[in-house]
Amino acid sequence: MAAHYDLLIRNGICVLPWGMEQTDVGVRDGRIAGLGVAADATAGQTIDAIGLHVLPGLIDPHVHFRDPGDAAVETLPSGTRAAVLGGLAVIFDMPNTAPPITDAERLGWKQEYVERVAWCDVGLYVSGTKTNIADLATLEAGRGVCAIKVFAATAGPDILVEDDATLERIMRAGRRRIAFHSEDEYRLRERRKMFSSGEPHLRHMEWHDEECAFLGTRRLMALARSTGRPAHILHVSTAEELDYLRDFRDLATVEVLVNHLTQVAPDCYERLHGFGVMNPPIRGPRHLAAAWAAVRDGTVDTIGSDHAPHSRAAKEKPWPDCPAGLTGVQTLVPVLLDHVNAGRLSLMRLADLLCAGPARVYGLVGKGRLAAGYDADFTLVDMRRQRRIEESWIVSPCGWTPFAGMDVTGWPVATIVRGEAVMRDDEVLREPHGRLAKFI
Ligand SMILES: [Zn+2]
Repeated sequence: MAAHYDLLIRNGICVLPWGMEQTDVGVRDGRIAGLGVAADATAGQTIDAIGLHVLPGLIDPHVHFRDPGDAAVETLPSGTRAAVLGGLAVIFDMPNTAPPITDAERLGWKQEYVERVAWCDVGLYVSGTKTNIADLATLEAGRGVCAIKVFAATAGPDILVEDDATLERIMRAGRRRIAFHSEDEYRLRERRKMFSSGEPHLRHMEWHDEECAFLGTRRLMALARSTGRPAHILHVSTAEELDYLRDFRDLATVEVLVNHLTQVAPDCYERLHGFGVMNPPIRGPRHLAAAWAAVRDGTVDTIGSDHAPHSRAAKEKPWPDCPAGLTGVQTLVPVLLDHVNAGRLSLMRLADLLCAGPARVYGLVGKGRLAAGYDADFTLVDMRRQRRIEESWIVSPCGWTPFAGMDVTGWPVATIVRGEAVMRDDEVLREPHGRLAKFI
């Protein structure tokens, strides 16, 4: 008797951990039941993926959905909707909301909220702060928690941890890999006095200079070495840090952002003004080249969007009153597929950075791998589709993207989460059925 599946994906070129193969994928009960499915198998639903690549469901491990916070800018429903439209099956949401996620009560609220409103699956960061150190070992083991996040710079006083003594106490609490925003807060404060309001936006990368980032990372690596606590350095932005971190691979994993692989100073500041301002800043061509070299040699483990929306009005304020942070969750995959088509990385490496990488770094289980038994998360992409990124396509309420007007080749055409197609051809389907992701 012919095998029966809930869903069959026929004729696509599958990006498997061991290479690319044209093969058929069978899905049952939300999981991958088999590869190389027999021709006579039947299914409740069949997707013909001829001419398409079938990737494991892509993961953006770094977004700020501002919920609770400012619903006019972003919410969990709108942000996860943007994610699936952009070809993402999973996002990890940062804790610096208003109020921030710092205790069991707020985490409990968010766990319940996510499973009512999210369009994709979700991992949650919890803020490690000066006042919740005793609770961190419990909080990091919470349902759906991907990591403790520590802001060693550029954060509100309720979550900022700028000094070595407190950073060390946090590293000695708990055991899982901690994700760090690495800049040196003291140097940033000192340098702020060198600039005045209304100066060109280019000043942003002079204020947040290379040494702010490198010094922050040297301090964190010294503490990681002495405590033995693994660290994930988010949005590494300098050639110096990438070089330095190669000597800490027993402790450190590395994220770079799609912005730091795509945009470059001074162009981003001259063209985009406040809409090019983020932390750590977009820098000059030397750092762009170093980021690509680090993608190619394996230094980089994950690529994120650092989707951090603000209102247009806020971004139009003069520097440095315009808040740092750019949108990106919906554009991450199209921009990276364009880089694949330009020959800057392979589709295999893209799947490594957006699937296997996050799974390895955060201890994500059951996802990130197109293999039997794993969650049936898929991103179907058309590598030949040419399209211009338009702000009219953006569903985040803030309504803007720093990639507006960019012509790309390669586009996500379907997102499937645990066997359910949640996006096809720019259309979001069904009802939200997102779940919390699971971690070791
Ligand atoms: Zn961020």
